[in-house]
Amino acid sequence: MKHFSAAVIPGDGIGPEVMDEGLSLLETICEIHGGISFQTEILPWNCRYYQEHGRMMPVDGLEKLQPFDVILLGAIGAPDVPDHISVWELILPIRRSFHQYVNLRPIKLLRGLESPLRYKGHADLDFVVVRENTEGEYSNMGGRLHAGTPYELAVQNNVFTRFGIERIVRFSYELAMATGKRRLTAATKSNGINHSMPFWDEIVNEISQEYLEIQTQLTHIDALAAFFISRPENFDVVVASNLFGDILTDLGAAAVGGLGLAPSGNINPDKTYPSMFEPIHGSAPDIAGKGIANPIATIWSISMMLDHLGERELGKLILESIEGVLVEGKIRTPDIGGRATTREMGEAIREQMYRRG
Ligand code: ATP
Ligand code: MG
Repeated sequence: MKHFSAAVIPGDGIGPEVMDEGLSLLETICEIHGGISFQTEILPWNCRYYQEHGRMMPVDGLEKLQPFDVILLGAIGAPDVPDHISVWELILPIRRSFHQYVNLRPIKLLRGLESPLRYKGHADLDFVVVRENTEGEYSNMGGRLHAGTPYELAVQNNVFTRFGIERIVRFSYELAMATGKRRLTAATKSNGINHSMPFWDEIVNEISQEYLEIQTQLTHIDALAAFFISRPENFDVVVASNLFGDILTDLGAAAVGGLGLAPSGNINPDKTYPSMFEPIHGSAPDIAGKGIANPIATIWSISMMLDHLGERELGKLILESIEGVLVEGKIRTPDIGGRATTREMGEAIREQMYRRG
């Protein structure tokens, strides 16, 4: 019997609604498999907690999370709490303290769905973006001067370290090797950003020499964004800095059907601390409380979590079950053109798992 532990932060808005389905799915997995168990602990850290306690999580929040194998997050954010609080006081400390330097985001068109790029089929849209998750453009360094004068200015520093670039690039090559992929595309902009990006390119080129069986391409971010739409079939593994990866993955999510379907993993590949899995969407205040949020992004994130824990067969079973429901086409939430509820979608996926498991 294998025992795993997961800290669960349902969060705000639709977060708890989609997480309910995620947790039911975990129970189903344990029932089907028999040889695996999940001990979960629900942590009520969200914007309501902030309003009551003046902080997003307890002082010893990170220490509480540390012993768990993995963390599952629903969504964080509320209209009346500024993003810089909800993000900077909960999500970023977790990502940074636990060295989750990889943000892994599959861009894959699921069977049963059509891409808004209608002429693109399923084989065309199946790649993964590896976003650097700890440094780069989101550095919190810089400042503003001369407020109220015609000379007012703002400076924001980018921070790129050899250590940080090497580890994300190496992870990307290793991922390509492990998944039998042939091509690695690195996002750059060394023609315009003339210190940090040439440094990034240099390191990509250096490491590429260790992986000669992989075809390496450095592509400027502007052209790369266009290619995501015009030639998505050209990509296997795309590695990008924090900001570039952030933008590319939202674009990729849109190309495969929208935010309700897009999963992610914040991964510490060395497993020295827990990794965190979460849908990339936010708390979606516009549909919160209505029971119509799509739980697929969360359930797919759980599939990635199982991959990370070494349970690849189970991860695959989940993804196949999601596709099974979509191919049948009877149950769809409104964001993908149906009328089903969050619960109905979750139930349909669990039913498919029983059928296949
Ligand atoms: P936040 O500030 O928390 O990021 P947001 O409103 O800026 O919230 P999202 O929550 O990501 O951003 O939502 C963007 C849009 O996508 C909204 O219209 C929302 O309804 C829709 N959306 C997001 N997630 C889902 C989902 N799981 N199912 C259906 N629609 C969703
Ligand atoms: Mg948002």
